[in-house]
Amino acid sequence: MAELNYEIMERESKVVLPEKLVFGKIYTDHVFEMDFDEDLGGWYNPTIKKFGNIELSPAAMVFHYGQTIFEGLKAYKQDSGKVALFRPEKNIERLNNSAKRMCIPTIDPEFVLNALIELVRIDKDWIPTKPGHSLYIRPVIFASEPLLGVRSAEKFKLIIMLSPVGPYYPEGFKPVPIYATDKYVRAVRKGIGEAKTAGNYAASMMGQYEAKKEGYSQVLWLDGIEQKYLEEVGAMNIFVRFKDEVTTPMLTGSILPGITRMSVLQILKDWKLNVTERMISLQEVMDGYKSGNLIELFGTGTAAIISSVSRLKFNDQLLQFSETEPGELSTKLYNELTNIYYGKIEDRHNWLTYVD
Ligand SMILES: *Cc1c(COP(=O)(O)O)cnc(C)c1O
Repeated sequence: MAELNYEIMERESKVVLPEKLVFGKIYTDHVFEMDFDEDLGGWYNPTIKKFGNIELSPAAMVFHYGQTIFEGLKAYKQDSGKVALFRPEKNIERLNNSAKRMCIPTIDPEFVLNALIELVRIDKDWIPTKPGHSLYIRPVIFASEPLLGVRSAEKFKLIIMLSPVGPYYPEGFKPVPIYATDKYVRAVRKGIGEAKTAGNYAASMMGQYEAKKEGYSQVLWLDGIEQKYLEEVGAMNIFVRFKDEVTTPMLTGSILPGITRMSVLQILKDWKLNVTERMISLQEVMDGYKSGNLIELFGTGTAAIISSVSRLKFNDQLLQFSETEPGELSTKLYNELTNIYYGKIEDRHNWLTYVD
């Protein structure tokens, strides 16, 4: 891999962020960009440059056939001023797994991780320090080759952009209502559900729209074949806490393997709880609600960290939990994870990578 190029623009004035940060709406001064061309021997021209619009042909294949993947992770500014990334090597690994599934060329993980760290270092004044705030990091790779014929592209672009963000839910850590549907499916086994790719989100928009219309914040997706088993929620993995078991749907190929999910599983094991990964039917959850065996439901994901579920609706059935108080385990996990991110407790699994 060639050397990293810099086209650095000096910041003209101090970074001033608005009082309220809408998720993903503001970007920092710089991006990392790199191009791929089969004829030029692979990835070339890795550059940190000024953030700005890019020029693409209307025939760029990403617009027509959706050959694109992305990642999402965060950098946290700790009280000491140190900047920490949470398990970034896992995001790079997953980016390459998504790439393989989508016929996109893989990247050199070490090189891209170093470029990502370098980019965060350059723009670290943009990281907000208020509680619950962080810098969201969004790598994306897409087919940039102009061609209307259908085949895998031979030219791609990778961009890493940065966005200062506040807490995902502006009202604070409050339970959210979710809505299960059997009207649409997000992904099927052997499809692209386990790749972090645009198509899965495109497939989810209609369900998400209808959930919003009914006053629910996210869709709980069921399996693509029978619509019987829990899969995941929007951009989060789902956990179910029964009296004697904390469980999450096993990774069958149609579920996105979340890094927060993986970390929560580890923390629950550290706490010596009975943790499982298995198939969980919606019926089992309903029965558990009726019998009192079901204690709480929560989602896990980088953007919101932990989302406690206030109520779950499926057709005419309603599972009602507290609308104001997040579940006990959800709260404990939220505190544990944020304490790790912000360096307030020991990083016992070496999950943090420091910038500098
Ligand atoms: C990104 C994502 C998640 C959560 O993954 P994390 O690595 O924990 O942020 C869950 N589901 C979907 C569909 C996702 O895209």
